[in-house]
Parts: sequence; structure tokens; C-alpha cells
Amino acid sequence: MGKKVMLVTGASRGIGAAIALLAGQSGYRVGVNYLRSEAAAHAVVQQIRDGGAEAVALQADVGQLAQVERMFAELDAAFGQLDVLVNNAGVLANFRVDAVDESNVADMFRANVFSMYFCSREAVRRMSTAHGGRGGAIVNMSSVAARLGGLGGGAAYAASKGAIDSFNLALAKEVGTEGIRVNAIRPGLISTDMHEVHGGIAKMEQMARTAVPLGRAGSAAEVAQVALWLASEAASYVHGTVVDVAGGR
Ligand code: NAP
Repeated sequence: MGKKVMLVTGASRGIGAAIALLAGQSGYRVGVNYLRSEAAAHAVVQQIRDGGAEAVALQADVGQLAQVERMFAELDAAFGQLDVLVNNAGVLANFRVDAVDESNVADMFRANVFSMYFCSREAVRRMSTAHGGRGGAIVNMSSVAARLGGLGGGAAYAASKGAIDSFNLALAKEVGTEGIRVNAIRPGLISTDMHEVHGGIAKMEQMARTAVPLGRAGSAAEVAQVALWLASEAASYVHGTVVDVAGGR
């Protein structure tokens, strides 16, 4: 058995990249999943390697089960074990309910919610003591949108994140006695590319000055600290809960 292995989905940019980098610094071997940003994902891998840790880039659409199965097989081949899954990949899209069609709402749930089931299935099959595993941790990336309803046009996004909160609780009940702790994070307004959808980072940061009790947007690194803590033994009795990382919002 080698050093612990953490798989972070959506780790080419933003919050996922920050978690992957901190995981490398914390002694994990890291799986860096991405969808399209190949160069960015490889840059994250290189940065982790430059810091003296092992990392591998794993391309897969986590909303597609066959691609998730291939990604986990590639992770097995690279590291031979799994200790932590961070279900971070997600998309934001703005469309009102009266503009819903077959594809926009399905795409949202496929990327944000189905991905949780597909990746967690593969992780539980590897980590659960009921499957001969050694236990581990799963961290699910929700959003304060789950309890605030999101910004205008964000009904599908908010509902997808509400589903993650429920999934988080239910999965915790399923696998808690099998050595796997399951928790979620609800980030608030965090400065990442995701905000291009509604006007860009500068506009979001302006809004954060008044909308957030701490008076500012958060950074991806601040979310990463909480993800690494939830994954660690320091959080050994934290299970089935959601931690808001939202500056009081
Ligand atoms: P981001 O900067 O837009 O990055 C999204 C990441 O997810 C990218 O690495 C992207 O890969 C990947 N991704 C998207 N769809 C994917 C798919 N189907 N399969 C695999 N990878 C996929 O977003 P972020 O702000 O870091 O957000 C990360 C998570 O935090 C999301 O779940 C988001 O909902 C949540 N969150 C963010 C905020 C915020 O204010 N930023 C607030 C609350 C919650 P590519 O680079 O290849 O496209």
C-alpha cells in the first residue's frame, strides 16, 4: 500500500484544481480529472509533480457512466488504490423554467447529479469494507444555491445542488458502517471561471461586497482547505453533513 490516493473530478480549473494542488502538498497521490481543458489539467499535474508528489491527468465526462468506468480503470492502473473521491465537477447555466427544454435541464442534471452516482458507485466498490476495501472518504461539492435558490435563471442549478445535499445524506447512511465517511461542501461566491455565465468574476466580486457578510468573494484555495480537512482523519467523526464555505452568506 502506497501513499493515499485522492481523485478530484473537474480538477483542471477553479475549486477542483485548488483541491488537487493542496492534495499533492498534503502527501496524496492525485487523480486530476477534466472534461475538455487538457492543457490546464496537465499543468495542474505538472505543478503537483514539481512539488514532489505523484499525479495523473484523467480525461472523462463524469456524466457518462462508460467514461467514468474507464477513468477509474485508468486510476487503478496508475495508483492501484483509492482513498478519497472529491465529486467536484459541475456546470452552471442560466435559463428560466419557462425556457427549459429536453437538453438544457438534462445536461445540467447529468453533469451535476448523475456524475455523483456514477463516480461514487465506482469509489464505493473500491473503498467499502463490504467490497473488501479499506474505507475512505467522499466529498461532494454542493452550493449555497441549494438553500438560496441560486441567482436569476438558476432554478435547474439550484435544484441540482439540492439533490446533492440529499444524495450526500443518503450515501452517508449507506456506507457509514463500511468505513467510508461522506460529507459535502456548500461554497458561496467563489472567484472562478464559472461566473462567466452571469457576467464574469469582476461583476460577481462586486456583488459579493454587499451580498456576503464577510464583504468579499472567497477563493478556490479557501474551499480546498475545507475539502482536505473533511477528507482527513482530523474529521473522523464528521459524517453526512454539509459545511458552508460562504463567508456567512
Ligand atoms: P469551474 O471553474 O467552471 O471549473 C469546472 C470544472 O469542472 C472544470 O475542471 C471542468 O473541466 C470540470 N467539468 C465540468 N463538467 C464536467 C464533466 N461533465 N466531466 C468532467 N469534468 C467536468 O467551476 P468551479 O467554480 O471551480 O466549480 C467547481 C464546483 O464547485 C462545481 O460543482 C460548482 O457547482 C461548485 N460551486 C462553485 C461556486 C463558485 O462560486 N465558483 C459556488 C458554489 C458551488 P474542463 O476545464 O475540462 O471544462
